[in-house]
Amino acid sequence: MSGFKIETAERLRNLPPYLFAAIDKIKKEAVSRGVDIINLGIGDPDLPTPPNIISRLNKAAEDPRNHQYPTYEGMASFRKAVADWYKRRFSVDLDPETEVLTLIGSKEGIGHIPLGFINPGDIVLVPSPGYPVYSTGTLFAGGRSYWLPLLKENHFLPDLASIPDDIRKASRLIFLNYPNNPTSAVASERFFEDVVEFASRNNIPVCHDAAYSEIYYDNIRPPSFLQADGAKDVGIEFHSLSKTYNMTGWRIGFAVGNREMISALGKVKSNLDSGVFQAIQEAGIEALSTDDAAINENRRRYQRRRDMLISGLNKAGLDVEIPKATFYLWVSVPKGFTSTGFAMHLLDKCGIVATPGNGFGDAGEGYIRFTLTVAEERIGEAVERIRLKL
Ligand SMILES: *Cc1c(COP(=O)(O)O)cnc(C)c1O
Repeated sequence: MSGFKIETAERLRNLPPYLFAAIDKIKKEAVSRGVDIINLGIGDPDLPTPPNIISRLNKAAEDPRNHQYPTYEGMASFRKAVADWYKRRFSVDLDPETEVLTLIGSKEGIGHIPLGFINPGDIVLVPSPGYPVYSTGTLFAGGRSYWLPLLKENHFLPDLASIPDDIRKASRLIFLNYPNNPTSAVASERFFEDVVEFASRNNIPVCHDAAYSEIYYDNIRPPSFLQADGAKDVGIEFHSLSKTYNMTGWRIGFAVGNREMISALGKVKSNLDSGVFQAIQEAGIEALSTDDAAINENRRRYQRRRDMLISGLNKAGLDVEIPKATFYLWVSVPKGFTSTGFAMHLLDKCGIVATPGNGFGDAGEGYIRFTLTVAEERIGEAVERIRLKL
């Protein structure tokens, strides 16, 4: 058919440029030359899902009752397990019927929620640097992102008071994420109280992403946004089993908090998808009721890797702050380098892949992100290469 032309929608054409393309190209070339690449770029746990969770899936998969369409909001038993876990972990009370919604991974809910709240042209407050789904979900709903820079001098928390009045008044949603990807910053309960105050004064619903609340160090447990007084009146929290239980491939997460927001997100979901495979929800119940031994072992492992990589980077003259949570190191690049330039240099000299900070937003320029999701032995090798070659 001559003249036929596939034309995509503006929302696809308006996606930001893929900033990692140049690095990907060099990485591929290095691999094809036979270079042994150490990939410290991926935020995906390398360790397996604990065996009790896998057994529970196997058993549940054999039950024909689990082979039909699941309800979009999730099994009552899974939602109850979530509420029980919130009570145990954060002392937060949740009604499993109205304040918990099962998600096909938290990314699904984060990507969909702007469809429930954003009209064309509305503003969404989005952290920069940040997880890219906040702004792409906004874009797909026809909204506009207003960037909240996360700066070192503010401990990588947004300065809510500096948001211009007109922006504040036109804002219909705010995304926040602590413990934070990529900066690894942790927020205090005090900060969350300020957020509740800001949100209620300006009538801006809050979406807090707590995907990393269980990846913490030295037994200092990061708070939930819902622990702040009045948080449930103004917002919801997204959570995931992905990072806590090494379950990224399973696709299960949840949203909890304000019932009107949960109901709106549920309405979007019920029109677009059908919940999570019930056998996976059964496995999720198993995960949330498992004792902490396996997760504690995970945390100790990340901590050893963290300390090892930091000492190597310090010896190479890089200034690294010790993260209190997440499996990321957010490191200033040396003077004279851009984020991308330093990532290329690291790949070229040492065969190490790390993620240039500007890929997470303009305010990430000047930083590079290392992940701790490879074996200690490989981190050791990375440290050795940095010592000899950087
Ligand atoms: C990994 C991650 C998620 C979630 O992942 P799911 O697997 O979709 O639950 C959410 N937010 C941030 C910031 C992440 O890094």
